[in-house]
Amino acid sequence: MKIYNTLTRRKEDFKPIEEGVVSMYVCGPTVYNYIHIGNARPMIVFDTVRRYMEHKGLNVNYVSNFTDVDDKIIKKANEEGTTSEVISQRFIEECKRDMEGLNVLPASTHPLATEEVPGMIDMISTLIDKGYAYKTEDGTVYFRTRKFEDYGKLSHKNIDDLEAGHRNINVTGEQKEDYLDFVLWKPKKEGEPYWDSPWSQGRPGWHIECSVMSKKYLGECIDIHAGGEDLIFPHHENEIAQSEAANGVPFANYWMHNGFLNIDNKKMSKSAGNFFTVRDISEKYDLQVLRFFMLSAHYRNPLNFSAELMESAKAGLERILNAYNNLMYLYENATSDITNDEEAKAKSAEYVDKFEEAMEDDFNTADAISVIFEFVRHINQAVNEQTGANVLKIYIDKLSMLCDILGIILEKEEKLPDEEIERLIDERQRARKKKDFKRADEIRDELREKGIVLEDTREGVKYKWV
Ligand code: AMP
Ligand code: ZN
Repeated sequence: MKIYNTLTRRKEDFKPIEEGVVSMYVCGPTVYNYIHIGNARPMIVFDTVRRYMEHKGLNVNYVSNFTDVDDKIIKKANEEGTTSEVISQRFIEECKRDMEGLNVLPASTHPLATEEVPGMIDMISTLIDKGYAYKTEDGTVYFRTRKFEDYGKLSHKNIDDLEAGHRNINVTGEQKEDYLDFVLWKPKKEGEPYWDSPWSQGRPGWHIECSVMSKKYLGECIDIHAGGEDLIFPHHENEIAQSEAANGVPFANYWMHNGFLNIDNKKMSKSAGNFFTVRDISEKYDLQVLRFFMLSAHYRNPLNFSAELMESAKAGLERILNAYNNLMYLYENATSDITNDEEAKAKSAEYVDKFEEAMEDDFNTADAISVIFEFVRHINQAVNEQTGANVLKIYIDKLSMLCDILGIILEKEEKLPDEEIERLIDERQRARKKKDFKRADEIRDELREKGIVLEDTREGVKYKWV
């Protein structure tokens, strides 16, 4: 398996630190609004990396944070006359709903920055003890960037060029020793959430969050750290400086970055009026179409979003779904059980190999999707009413397997409508009254199978989806 590593600017063979296990950290969103379709790109892309690795038998420990304390969250809370906690909790829930629609698997752990402040205080203290950080009079703590010799190794920037760029920035009011120093801890302002610390009542800087959460949940040195390419500098560069200075070991072996999503070939921006949330798109399309669209390009390339391209993604996805539905129809109505399946086995293996070859090459999902289209074309020609169930089953299994790696669902389970659930709950209550416990249990089991659990409470029967 080859991965393009931003650190070395080369495609490298992937070798996890511990055989068979992968530790992967993906920088998550700042939760002050619904996620936009740009935010969905790293979610979908790295979820696909994870799914492919799991398909190859690797056990992926996948951590992705929510940044739930930040200037934008505080601003939104002030605008709405509420607390930043209310805002962040609301948009974490909304983000999880969008992720479900996009069929992005929940992370093994989704840490929240606000729950990890003690760890951040520890790491900042270590950095101060080691001389990599200092406190100023107003209670701010800065990282002493120039002391970290490898600074710039990820973004391949020369520290002297950075300095030239920074000279123009107005730093009035800041008490930093050097233009390049960045914040680890900042004192609170009126009305802001804060924590006690040895330096001031305040809150952590953004970069230290990820260094600490990655260390806590995955260890000091991890396999993969990922995010959008805008995070390479300064966020990931600063994470490396903090973590390596504090821990004394390399932070991550592979750095993966997705390219940006543009709209009609322009940068997405609210003020330019070309800005879409995932929720906006869900009003017009099944979110699977958005996922399929995102995977139709290589993750490192820029991707252009337009109505036309979405329509063509929809048509492409339908071609695959139609082939699958046809296979299922033929399978359910197959009259002959056994026919010669040599060709089906050989052809399926050939397409699976080609698919894997594309994915092994730095997760080339664009080519992998082309292989699925070729496979679908073959299937459509190869099967008809006379085809044996055994042959159909081979095609069904292999097509499902490939789509599953991309997170494309071929067979959506119909969710039972609420009225139907309530009808069954009423029927169960009536059965219990009549002491027909057999029927009552049958209904409970039937609902359980559909993912609904009943709870008998004092206010009556309640149900929840599991
Ligand atoms: P943010 O909430 O801005 O920190 O972004 C969360 C994630 O979305 C980060 O990995 C960003 O790099 C990524 N991201 C933001 N905008 C875009 C975009 N237009 N295209 C691709 N990725 C993006
Ligand atoms: Zn991060």
